[in-house]
Order: sequence, then C-alpha cells, then structure tokens
Amino acid sequence: MARVNGKVALISGGARGMGASHARLLVQEGAKVVIGDLLDDEGAALAAELGEANARYVHLDVTDYAQWETAVATATEAFGRLDIVVNNAGIANFGPIEDYTIEAWQQILDINLTGVFYGIKSAIPALKESGAGSIINISSTAGLQGYEALPGYNAAKFGVRGLTKNAALDLGRYNIRVNSVHPGVIRTPMTESLETPQNHVALHRVGEPIELSNLILFLASDESSFSTGAEFVADGGETA
Ligand code: NAD
Repeated sequence: MARVNGKVALISGGARGMGASHARLLVQEGAKVVIGDLLDDEGAALAAELGEANARYVHLDVTDYAQWETAVATATEAFGRLDIVVNNAGIANFGPIEDYTIEAWQQILDINLTGVFYGIKSAIPALKESGAGSIINISSTAGLQGYEALPGYNAAKFGVRGLTKNAALDLGRYNIRVNSVHPGVIRTPMTESLETPQNHVALHRVGEPIELSNLILFLASDESSFSTGAEFVADGGETA
C-alpha cells in the first residue's frame, strides 16, 4: 500500500544522510519529492535516481528566504501542490562554551533554527492551498537534554522543539500539523567522525537512517492525523 500516494514533499538537506533516506522512502510510498540542499551534485544524482516523474532537485541554502520561496515554487510548478515539509538540513559544531566562537554560534543558529522558521513560513501559502499539511521539524535528543560541548546545537535544537509547538498552535486552524522528531545517534556523514560507544543507549547501538525514515513516513501520512505539536523520539532509549 502506498502510504503517501499523491502527496508532494519538500525535504531540506535531502541530498545525503537521513534526508536522502526520507526522500527514497517517501517516493517508494507514492509521494513526489523536491530535494533542497547545498550539495548540488549529490542532490541532482539522487533526483535522477528517483526519476523525473517523482523527484526534482533545487539548490537551497536554508538561511536564504528567497531560496525557500523558489523551492516551494519548484514543488507547486513541477507537481501541482505541496503537502509535506521536512525541515531536515542541519550542521553540528562542537566546543566548550568558554571557547565557542561568536561565528560558530551564529552559524548554527542561522542554519539549524532560523532555517526551520524560514521553511515553515515559506510553505504556509502552498500548504493552505492544499487544504492540509504536515511539517516535520528535525530536532535531536539535544532538543530534549543537555550535552557537553554542544552549546549552539543544544540551543538550536531546543529552539526547534519550541518553534514546533508555536507553529502547531498557529497552523492547526488550517489543518496543518507540525511535529518535531528527536533522533539519537544515527549512522550518517554527520556522525562518521564521532567516537560513539553506545553503552548509555538501551539498545546498545547507533540507529540507521531508515529507522528514522519510517517515523517520517508515519508523520507525513494521514496515519498521524491527530498528532500535532508533539515530540517523536527515536533514540534507541538514550533518553529513557
Ligand atoms: P548530514 O550531514 O548527512 O546531512 C545534512 C544535510 O544538510 C547535508 O546534505 C547538508 O549539505 C545539508 N545542509 C547543511 N547546511 C545546509 C544549508 N545551509 N542549507 C541547505 N542544506 C544544508 O546529517 P544527518 O545526520 O543526515 O542530519 C540530518 C538532520 O538530523 C540534521 O538536522 C541533524 O542535526 C539531525 N540529527 C542528526 C543526528 C545524527 O546522529 N546523525 C542525530 C540527531 C539529529
């Protein structure tokens, strides 16, 4: 059964890692996807793999509002509508707060938090036009608890969780649902440089991107029709 048949999704940071996995599963389940990213070669290759009938790639720097408007227009022009936005683009940077630079702070807030606000705001007209929508904001376990040496990441991911609740309250009247997703450590290019012994995780392992994509599929589909303003945790029990 195609669980998102006929729906159109826009995925930021969709060229690799978890975003690419989400794009593949949504297409497999009947959706059309627009992949927005800075990685033009990877993004174009993924769109080609998924086929012109199912996917487009658009260059998208999530810190540039005009590029969000272009990405939304790409979805409505290519596929006639927009139903799902996955605010997935993100970076990580590290350092104890006393050594953390002003530039590192500004960069991570711009991408990981302001980028999500822009993604929500730019999509509202198209989602209203569709009569419903599902916005899925990728936070982290770092949006649920503190971690050493992640001041900007912690602040931005808590911010995504708070913004999600505000947007859910504001947009529910349009039948636009907004939820946050909180992955633990997942095997992607972002984490390949990390030493990650997983003894603090109930399942004693890292997660795989598809384990998050299955959750994204549920939130994108009508199966989650009464869930909004909620946190969905997939962390192997790290925060249990
Ligand atoms: P990744 O580095 O593999 O992918 C992130 C993607 O975002 C890349 O394709 C990158 O080019 C893109 N991106 C970065 N800056 C951008 C910008 N300014 N505009 C547009 N695209 C931009 O990382 P991932 O692990 O797949 O992470 C996806 C999301 O999941 C991120 O928000 C991350 O914070 C979050 N997350 C990851 C983990 C993990 O363990 N991997 C855990 C919790 C949360």
